[in-house]
Amino acid sequence: MARTITLPDGTTLPALGAGTWNMGDSAARRDEEIASLRYAVEHGVQVVDTAEMYGNGRSEKLVGDAIAPMRKQVFLVSKVLPTNASAKGVAQSCRRSLKHLGTGWLDMYLLHWRGSVPLAETVEAFRQLQREGLIRHWGVSNFDTDDVQELEQCTQPGECAVNQVLYSLEHRGVEFDLLQADRQRQIVTMAYSPIGQGGALLADPALGRVAARHTTSLGVATPAQVALAWVLRQPNMLAIPKAGTVAHMQQNLAAQELELGPQDLAELDAAFAPPKSKQPLAMI
Ligand code: NDP
Repeated sequence: MARTITLPDGTTLPALGAGTWNMGDSAARRDEEIASLRYAVEHGVQVVDTAEMYGNGRSEKLVGDAIAPMRKQVFLVSKVLPTNASAKGVAQSCRRSLKHLGTGWLDMYLLHWRGSVPLAETVEAFRQLQREGLIRHWGVSNFDTDDVQELEQCTQPGECAVNQVLYSLEHRGVEFDLLQADRQRQIVTMAYSPIGQGGALLADPALGRVAARHTTSLGVATPAQVALAWVLRQPNMLAIPKAGTVAHMQQNLAAQELELGPQDLAELDAAFAPPKSKQPLAMI
């Protein structure tokens, strides 16, 4: 059964979402990228993640075109750059993103990473957007444990809904303390680059061995599916792999059928050791 996550206000969402970094950059790939996102939403994906940074608005524009016929089925996430995180900057960036996306509201607005603007100012700007009905929820991205603690000083419990961070077999540092720090505060952790950006991770022999032991409705499991199922095994974890083709999207949806067993997890632990001490949050 497909996993779900629950936001602090009780909103429940499918744990598998869709990333869109680099989408919209190539005219040749555009139709396929749009088809991939539409296929995802037609097959139950709700969370679609973009950012003002991605292609300087190109990703947001592509997402806007893709979801125009199905806006209400989508839980739309965008992000403000830290350089735009002042009261005025957040108000301007949000309106620009809404224009690019061709919509009247964002379901979630995130601070992309921490910059020099005081957190309390950005938080107040998010609250103002909520009062205006331009965003439904807000959250943060690339916040380490100390950042999450600091955020607590200027927020009410349940206000910050998600923390989007790098999490994959290759980057397990957050397991040491950040996942717990998020959970304690009802913050949903959102895993970015869960399949290692389609790079060296997918050629790892251990991942290949685990994949060969499993099947999905599409046939023998693939390393990417195992990498994604491994991230999704965590409770209350959203994952937002980016699939620019319908074929990859179909595989990512089918990865929800995989249940990794103790032997699989032990083999993956042997190849990708869990953290034994605090590690600074890795970022891409
Ligand atoms: P991912 O780990 O999602 O990997 C994406 C790559 O994997 C693409 O090259 C894609 O190829 C390929 N791929 C997708 N599905 C499969 C599959 N089933 N089998 C084989 N290859 C596959 O990396 P991203 O860096 O894109 O991360 C996901 C999303 O997270 C981003 O798109 C973005 O929305 C967000 N993000 C947020 C960051 C932040 O700072 N908050 C930083 C980085 C990412 P193809 O496109 O050809 O399908």
